[in-house]
Amino acid sequence: MRWDGQKLSDGAGPALLPLNGLVRSVRTPEFEGVTFHEVLCKSALNRVPKNSTMPFTWTINPTRGCLHQCVYCFARKTHEYLDLDSGADFDSQIVVKTNIVEVLRAELARPSWAREHVALGTNSDPYMRAEGRYELMPGILEALTEARTPFSVLTKGPLLRRDLPLLVRAAQRVSVDVGVSLAFMDPELQQRVEPGTPKPAARLQLIRALADAGLEPTVMAMPVLPWLTDSDEHLDVLMGAVAEAGGAWVTVGALHLRPGAREWFLGWLGRDYPDLVPKYEVLYGRGSYASAEYREWLAGRVRRLRRRHGFTERAPRDRAAGEGRSSGKSGRWSLRNDPAEVTARPGAAEPVGPTLSELSMQPALF
Ligand code: SF4
Repeated sequence: MRWDGQKLSDGAGPALLPLNGLVRSVRTPEFEGVTFHEVLCKSALNRVPKNSTMPFTWTINPTRGCLHQCVYCFARKTHEYLDLDSGADFDSQIVVKTNIVEVLRAELARPSWAREHVALGTNSDPYMRAEGRYELMPGILEALTEARTPFSVLTKGPLLRRDLPLLVRAAQRVSVDVGVSLAFMDPELQQRVEPGTPKPAARLQLIRALADAGLEPTVMAMPVLPWLTDSDEHLDVLMGAVAEAGGAWVTVGALHLRPGAREWFLGWLGRDYPDLVPKYEVLYGRGSYASAEYREWLAGRVRRLRRRHGFTERAPRDRAAGEGRSSGKSGRWSLRNDPAEVTARPGAAEPVGPTLSELSMQPALF
């Protein structure tokens, strides 16, 4: 990394954080208010707990904390394990595993590696702006491809276009699923809710680029915010834009408010939309999910709009069946855990709508 001039600490000086493997902490004028903590990690692959219903077994997160600063982010809580807070620290104290490619290559080379699906983009966006400087993703994609390991990437970052040739090459050898998160079409609201993210238009261009490259992008149209983005008009514009851009799949779902995200989101709501706070308190109560009635109502609205834009519900395809997977998990970015979370594909012919019996209320991912 080329930010030597701005380093705050190194092995010879006091570390700012008690992080395992901390090499140095860095600030740079390009990222005002942000501190990068560069660490040497001991492992790159994280195993998802066995009892999890996540659609994959392994994750890779080259960074912790996220510059995209989404007020609803579920991963906020994970920053507390680092003795950092789940609010402003999550947005500005970014841990970067600078040796992750080298460590990953060693892990993938083990005879015991079973080539199970690996998900990227679960706790931090791998294509946030800092990736432009650290350039960790090309090595990660190449290592997974060479190890014949199927993988998925979920992002809000148009920087992914830099790696399109690598993704196309990877898709010729292993199963590759690319998801783009896009839930807000009003740029002003989007900047309030996700202040560090690229504008909706940039993400639509990314979807188009992925579609043109033949990568059949999934679009995660989540979260839908009650009273803010659940109108017919907003969802209509969103689904129309996704269909127009070439999105192959779209998943729509209501906001979840799990601990960590809940406090931060409600604080934001109180500042920007104080009139909505009592309504959210009724809708969510003390739980993490909107009421069943609301989710069913939203699912009905989504179904109707989906038909209007040529999306037809069906179970997501599993291109990678039998491709080095021992877990039976598909790895696709579809989270059918909420009646308002609907996976749809334009023109698909097999209607398989989500049912109440499918509700497991597992955590969703970003
Ligand atoms: S939701 Fe995703 S993009 Fe947004 S802050 Fe969390 S990890 Fe980053």
